[in-house]
Amino acid sequence: QLLDYHRGPLKAVVLEEGAPHSHVAIVARALDVPIVGQLRDVAQRIEPGDLVIVDGDHAQVLVRPSEDVRHIYRRSLLARDARRARYVAVRHLPPTTRDGVRVSINVNAGLLVDLQNFAELGADGVGLYRTEVPFMMRTDLPDVDSQRELYEAVIAAVEGKPVIFRTLDIGGDKVLPYWEQAEDENPAMGWRAIRVAFDRPALLRQQLQALVQATAGHELSVMFPMIATCEEFRFGRRLLDQALARERRCGRPLPTRVRCGAMLEVPALLYQLEPLLADIDFLSVGTNDLFQFLFASDRGSYRVSHHYDVLSPVPLTVLRTVAEHCRQRGVPLGLCGEMAGQPLDAMALLGVGFEDLSVAPPAVGPLKEMVRSLALTPLKQFLDQLTSRQHGNLRPILRAYARDHDIVI
Ligand code: PEP
Ligand code: MG
Repeated sequence: QLLDYHRGPLKAVVLEEGAPHSHVAIVARALDVPIVGQLRDVAQRIEPGDLVIVDGDHAQVLVRPSEDVRHIYRRSLLARDARRARYVAVRHLPPTTRDGVRVSINVNAGLLVDLQNFAELGADGVGLYRTEVPFMMRTDLPDVDSQRELYEAVIAAVEGKPVIFRTLDIGGDKVLPYWEQAEDENPAMGWRAIRVAFDRPALLRQQLQALVQATAGHELSVMFPMIATCEEFRFGRRLLDQALARERRCGRPLPTRVRCGAMLEVPALLYQLEPLLADIDFLSVGTNDLFQFLFASDRGSYRVSHHYDVLSPVPLTVLRTVAEHCRQRGVPLGLCGEMAGQPLDAMALLGVGFEDLSVAPPAVGPLKEMVRSLALTPLKQFLDQLTSRQHGNLRPILRAYARDHDIVI
């Protein structure tokens, strides 16, 4: 429903339910629309024509605010505009740390509007193109030709920068109105993503064909979501090889280079890193799902999602282990979960070895400012000590570190 609204007039979203990592919140963030959730009965409290202030930063919704309050918010909007002007000023500067490490900042996208002003974002590429989003906006399944046109438009929008296309991640909370919905009791762990492709390979075959055709003369990077075993990855890669072979047989032009990667979202993969890394061309960590499964904490449930902070020793140690394995094996590693979009969390990610992050477009500016204000070597040492000695939530300690070292978060 959110995707059906016209972007201009839509100023904010207020939900009676919702959680920070549910897909509706991700889409709102991509649209740069403030969103506040968990406001029970809010629809009954607001009358048509009421003036409402939605403050996404502080999770507040003010209905019929007084002139004083409006004045305060007008000032805070001016401060936000000033902050945005600062981001525009660093747009063409590289995200390089004070001690000279070039970090890569990419964007997550799923709609063409996400990429409309791509050149102005100053991003290095698209680290996650969620192909299911355009599928969700249609009333019928797109055929190969319409998919090809869509992916061509994505390639054109990024003007030669790299794009990682993620194959369809339908199921879970991403429902296609025209596709059979499994009656799973736990849809997030049910028939979704690559599992659907296993049973209905034609869908993935068509998508890969469209991707291969759309990227003729360009580099093609494809990754598969929700991989739980090496066999699942090999299955996806086999279909990709077949799509390439078919194009070759037909004498059509091919992509200049093909990279095939996996998303790390299922904890079982942590115990298969060695064989997996031998097979894949790159790995991308989806922390939204990885930590939902690691902590058995539904990402769409407001009641549990705040119980487990990603800035605590267990998740950070898991991420460091993954980063070390990839570094030793020389496998490119990225991270595209929502965690990367928060400057403080992203600072911790850099500290445990991630140098390639992918975030919603509005987060590029704040992230670049953070990266350019920090020195990586001392931060890594600090995080090494911190995660081995401390227990519990490290957020306050990391915030204090940022403050003491003038890191802009
Ligand atoms: C993730 O799980 O972290 C991810 C990037 O994929 P999605 O949010 O689309 O499930
Ligand atoms: Mg995911």
